[in-house]
Amino acid sequence: MILKLLLVIGVIAVVYFIFIKKKPSDKISKNEEQSSEMVECATCKVYCELDDAILSGSKYYCSKECLEKVK
Ligand SMILES: [Zn+2]
Repeated sequence: MILKLLLVIGVIAVVYFIFIKKKPSDKISKNEEQSSEMVECATCKVYCELDDAILSGSKYYCSKECLEKVK
């Protein structure tokens, strides 16, 4: 009985480890997708990365030059 109980606990532990190991990798892949998201510059229509883009109001600009052209 004790051996069977240990076997069941062992199987549950293995299943838990598989699920715990999978979840962080999914989060990392989602973050990579977000960081490589492309946005269109409102002035020159060039696509640049969201991290590099300048947000002014509700529009994105690729550089300060494009942002100043609008004003
Ligand atoms: Zn631009």
